[in-house]
Amino acid sequence: MVDCGAVQGNDQALPLSEWPVAPDNIDYIFLTHAHIDHIGRLPSLITSGFNGDIICSHPTKALLAVMLRDAMNFMDYSGEELEKILGIIDELSWGFEYGQSFDLKGGASFSLGRAGHILGFSFIRFVFRHGTNEYSVLFSGDLGNLDTPLLPDPEIPEASDLLVLESTYGNRLHEDREKRLCRLGEVISATIENQGTVYIPAFALGRTQELLYELDRLFTEAEWRQKFPLFSRHDSGTSPVPVFVDTPLGAEITKIFSFLAQFWDQEAKELMLSGDDPLDFNGLYSAARFHDHVRLLDYDKPAIIVAGSGMCTGGRIVDHLKRALPDPENHIVFVGYQAMGTSGRDILRYSHKPGGYAVIDGERISIRAKVTKISGYSAHADAHGLVQWTKSMKEKPARIKLVHGEPLAQMALKSELTRHGYSVV
Ligand SMILES: [Zn+2]
Ligand SMILES: [Zn+2]
Repeated sequence: MVDCGAVQGNDQALPLSEWPVAPDNIDYIFLTHAHIDHIGRLPSLITSGFNGDIICSHPTKALLAVMLRDAMNFMDYSGEELEKILGIIDELSWGFEYGQSFDLKGGASFSLGRAGHILGFSFIRFVFRHGTNEYSVLFSGDLGNLDTPLLPDPEIPEASDLLVLESTYGNRLHEDREKRLCRLGEVISATIENQGTVYIPAFALGRTQELLYELDRLFTEAEWRQKFPLFSRHDSGTSPVPVFVDTPLGAEITKIFSFLAQFWDQEAKELMLSGDDPLDFNGLYSAARFHDHVRLLDYDKPAIIVAGSGMCTGGRIVDHLKRALPDPENHIVFVGYQAMGTSGRDILRYSHKPGGYAVIDGERISIRAKVTKISGYSAHADAHGLVQWTKSMKEKPARIKLVHGEPLAQMALKSELTRHGYSVV
């Protein structure tokens, strides 16, 4: 089995009791990465009897417990159950190296490859052997962008018979990295010059660290300091206003990221060697304790506040949005995918309509703050990236199956791949 995620937005989950294979009959579960939409149902799989091996990369193994503990706090587990399940997951899970082939029971083997997205992410290729016949299946997982901060570019996968390909952004193209950083700089600088606060809803794993990396660049690099006079009025490497990371999970993961620096890309490693910690700058504060969060709600503008959840469906961002949305001086900046049925999607959709409002936490909140979406920050490859990655394989896969995308995105990607001569089922 590959990945075992919790649903997002409007999706429906099939109960584990109705799965085609009973959980206690599954030998292995492979995890492409530690996002909750890929690991969130691992605890219920365990309580339903799964007792096989959990296989992933080393960084994913390092992130599993912290991600699941946070998610399970929102589920109906007692403290004792939670620790017991996490203990079992720790015992069953194994970190593996990238780029090597490992044997499984029954004559199959697997290998992991890097493809951006988030630290620890891997695409997984399986080879099944029957006598002299071989059949290979490649699971793309969530493919990353070419130029994701901190992460090496996607690797080229070996040719495979079946490709199971994600399609989140199958109908979209992203802005490139410099363009999106420029837009982030523009939004921050204009809002702060106007005495407003910038709110950035962000997932604790991946996006929060990418943002810190990008803010560090804006406040440190000469090019951006020249472009935005606000930044140059402060010392290099210093934020013009306090930046608060209001997420206990985000702060914890940022620490784990620092320990995993060996898995960063060259650019991030070089910054670290030159003495600039790419995940830290002057003026960055972590509001890890709940008490800090409550105080932050009354903080006088201007500031930059990064908080989860990334789709505004829960977490500390919800309290912030209730206060921030009605004030036209504020700016809400979306830097990630907003699934259908989430508050984030509603805010985006209704922000440009007169009298627009969003229902948050059961309350109707009017939207007068500015709302911007910067699409390039997605941890997912765009349509071009998905097609390029597929084309990078030496031979065409005999079949492609699309997953992990809304119907419109899948249709667009299907016709694009078909145009390039692929057979998409
Ligand atoms: Zn993901
Ligand atoms: Zn995903």
